[in-house]
Amino acid sequence: MIPGLFPVCRPLLPPADAVAAYIRRSDQARHYTNRGPLVRLLEERLAVTLGLEGHAVRTTSSGTSAIEVAILASAGPADAGRPLALMPSFTFAATALAAERCGYRPLFADIDPASWALDPARLADHPDFAKVGVVISVAPFGRVPDMAALERFHAETGRPVILDAAAAFEQLLDTPALVSATVPLTISFHATKTFSTGEGGAVFWRNAEGQERVEQAANFGFHRSRETRVAGTNAKMSDYHAAVGLAMLDGFAGRRQDYARVCQLYAGLAEGRRLPGRLHLPPCISSAYVLLETPDAATLDQLQRRLLDQRIESRKWYESGLHVQRHFASAPLADLPHTADLSGRLLGLPMAPDLTEAEIARVLDALV
Ligand SMILES: *Cc1c(COP(=O)(O)O)cnc(C)c1O
Repeated sequence: MIPGLFPVCRPLLPPADAVAAYIRRSDQARHYTNRGPLVRLLEERLAVTLGLEGHAVRTTSSGTSAIEVAILASAGPADAGRPLALMPSFTFAATALAAERCGYRPLFADIDPASWALDPARLADHPDFAKVGVVISVAPFGRVPDMAALERFHAETGRPVILDAAAAFEQLLDTPALVSATVPLTISFHATKTFSTGEGGAVFWRNAEGQERVEQAANFGFHRSRETRVAGTNAKMSDYHAAVGLAMLDGFAGRRQDYARVCQLYAGLAEGRRLPGRLHLPPCISSAYVLLETPDAATLDQLQRRLLDQRIESRKWYESGLHVQRHFASAPLADLPHTADLSGRLLGLPMAPDLTEAEIARVLDALV
């Protein structure tokens, strides 16, 4: 957060006392990580909440490491024949960095302008598709793409597919059927997301053997011994982070009501004002975001400056796409017109579960 600036994101995690009640259990068990009692309890409660079998949820140390272990468990590390990971450029850096950690080179494809996500019907036409070892689709801002189409694409091509659904926790709660037996889906529990353990994440996958490989990859490639048998890392969630998640889960029904109230305020207050664009509000996207889609990039730049003049922070959450960022410049050259267009026109506005009517009015007035 920048001092003196009204923040685009103002996380609110459970109070220390609520977390401490859980941490005392770890002290009693003297088990603090390596799938301790609190991590297991969090996984179990998440599975029960979604009506899934216990193995369908495996927590990780971050949303990024969830992507990494999901890749290792489904596609394995890159090899010389299939060194590329096909993914959108319209995403947060973590998607591509996770693939790189598994040895893949990102290969960026354009998004569909309606879904903001990869179009599964067009992926196999990519000129470099023969060299693609894994496809990572993204649910931008929590907008989950057509899962059935991704499953079909996987069944028809045999290519492992992962969905980086980092911000889609609420979408999972509302539609648990999104959790697939063939396409692992990863979630982030970062403090800026709606459900948080501080840092953390999870792989959702209705595949018991696949989830065993997730556990193995997350724990140094060990399997029932201390010998590394496959590629791995340390992606384990600690019980301290699980304690935050358990306390957050206790209050999550109320949290969702808070978000619904803020969304209603945004929608209601926007109605009386002539906004220079279209508002995208939850539940179509994650409650972590409110987005203004402007008619063109120049309008967005102008609005962002105007907000800043009034000491209000706003953000292009996915910047201008990953393909123009310096670190990813070595990826095969890509012409991504829809990514370039949309990323120049989507502006993240302040969002928090406790925004007041006056605060929202201040943001909207600055836009008009
Ligand atoms: C938040 C986010 C991540 C990264 O999650 P962390 O928990 O911060 O590692 C990855 N992908 C997308 C699309 C995200 O929004």
